[in-house]
Amino acid sequence: MSTVKTLTGEEHFKAVISHAKEYGFIFQSSEIYDGLSAVYDYGQCGAPLKNNIREYWWRAMVQMNENIAGIDAAIFMHPTVWKASGHVDAFNDPLIDNKDSKKRYRADVLIEDHIAKIEAKIEKEVTKAKQRFGESFDEAMFRSTNPRVVENQKKIDEINQRLKDCLERNDLEGVRQLILDLEIVCPVSGTRNWTEVRQFNLMFATQMGSVSEEASTIYLRPETAQGIFVNFLNVYKTGRMKIPFGIAQTGKAFRNEIVARQFIFRMREFEQMEMQYFVRPGTEMQWYEHWKQARMQWHLTLGISSTKYRFHDHIKLAHYANAACDIEFEFPFGFKELEGIHSRTDFDLKSHEQHSGKKLQYFDPELNESYVPYVVETSIGLDRMFLAVLSATYKEETLEDGSDRTVLSIPPALAPVKCAVLPLVNKDNLPEKAREIMDQIKFGFDCMFDAKDSIGKRYRRQDAIGTPYCITIDHQTLQDNTVTIRERDTMQQERIHTSEVSRIVEERVSMKALLSKVS
Ligand code: ATP
Repeated sequence: MSTVKTLTGEEHFKAVISHAKEYGFIFQSSEIYDGLSAVYDYGQCGAPLKNNIREYWWRAMVQMNENIAGIDAAIFMHPTVWKASGHVDAFNDPLIDNKDSKKRYRADVLIEDHIAKIEAKIEKEVTKAKQRFGESFDEAMFRSTNPRVVENQKKIDEINQRLKDCLERNDLEGVRQLILDLEIVCPVSGTRNWTEVRQFNLMFATQMGSVSEEASTIYLRPETAQGIFVNFLNVYKTGRMKIPFGIAQTGKAFRNEIVARQFIFRMREFEQMEMQYFVRPGTEMQWYEHWKQARMQWHLTLGISSTKYRFHDHIKLAHYANAACDIEFEFPFGFKELEGIHSRTDFDLKSHEQHSGKKLQYFDPELNESYVPYVVETSIGLDRMFLAVLSATYKEETLEDGSDRTVLSIPPALAPVKCAVLPLVNKDNLPEKAREIMDQIKFGFDCMFDAKDSIGKRYRRQDAIGTPYCITIDHQTLQDNTVTIRERDTMQQERIHTSEVSRIVEERVSMKALLSKVS
């Protein structure tokens, strides 16, 4: 039996970041020039992991739902798109600077972090009580009656309410006052010497056209959703879609984030996976509930502990939304948004109708009338999902014999390499035999050949990149055509015939098996 080392959130996060670099998952962009802030490159292990997560999402959406069509819209769009979507006028974050450290923060995030600290106090009380009362512990009762918990919860509710009121009224002075009243200090300087709160637009602008008089300002898209809205009519007509139907896409989005920290959690260039579901007005709440459950199911199917996920209802709804929530994930730095699920009414299509002068309506044969459909969207950041998988599966273990290993227990269907092919020693015809096996199996899944160093070291290297299976070719293989297959998490080995390798590995790592559990 192995034991998993306990790490604090901070230690865990630091270890994940350095592991990601050391094993070729993620590199800082332009590192030889000291990097570009909040921009990252995916390395030889990161790129396949990211592709596999994207594939899992795409196939769960597009392949498994007959009524969801997948598209790939351009990053550049007509500038009026961003007028219509509201991004030119209102895609702002409230920012605040600390005069002593000269550091810039998102004012709302400072307040949310403060709330998270109070939440942590509550959780500590609950954990302590759970241990004290054991089996007979009634958590709901404890949360509603324990004076310290009740008082802290009241504080949280009051702060949330004040923040919501201020943001709805665009009362930036009120937001600043809240920061002062809560005695929030700058994490760097430790002081409360804050500037005013100002709004800052997050879109990157650039010029299109070669002659400067003709050039027009266009934007790098800050979300992929608008590429779907402007193609609503195209897909509806050419795909002969019937409501309810969805359009899905994955692709890059760009935001000039004020506070770009926390590794790939908040980047300036990132990738989104979004699906807009067009429904008959009046049925949107039913579909909102449907997609909340369906998306949670997609996450849980991966086998990552369900305690790491929770729903969080938005305290401040955008003016056009009639329901919105996040799926939050427990990253090493706490529960944060991983995915958003929003009921957006007919806001986007109506606005594009007004700005483009084109009718964006659906003719409903059952009702015999045309209308602008309502939209329920699901929107998840691919990079955030990558970080969720990496941080939840990273483990440092002490083995029975006292040695250590670092392992990524990535769900097999997502693992960058599915199977390593290892000749026990680099001589005696074993490498040749191993190559022969590799050449037979490499068509079905990603394999890696490794003959260097001791077998123990090679197993550790594969554990560290999350390879679920290692095939070892030894002297017995030359006699009877059998190999050992070692499973990453249990480290158990069994002997199988070489002709079985392909089938056994394929069965256990297959995306197909994973997808069949989602539905
Ligand atoms: P946040 O509140 O964290 O800024 P948001 O509410 O602005 O996120 P949305 O506009 O709803 O995010 O975007 C949908 C998803 O895109 C988010 O749930 C997140 O996973 C991802 N995402 C948004 N901004 C970033 C970013 N800067 N870097 C990486 N992923 C992002």
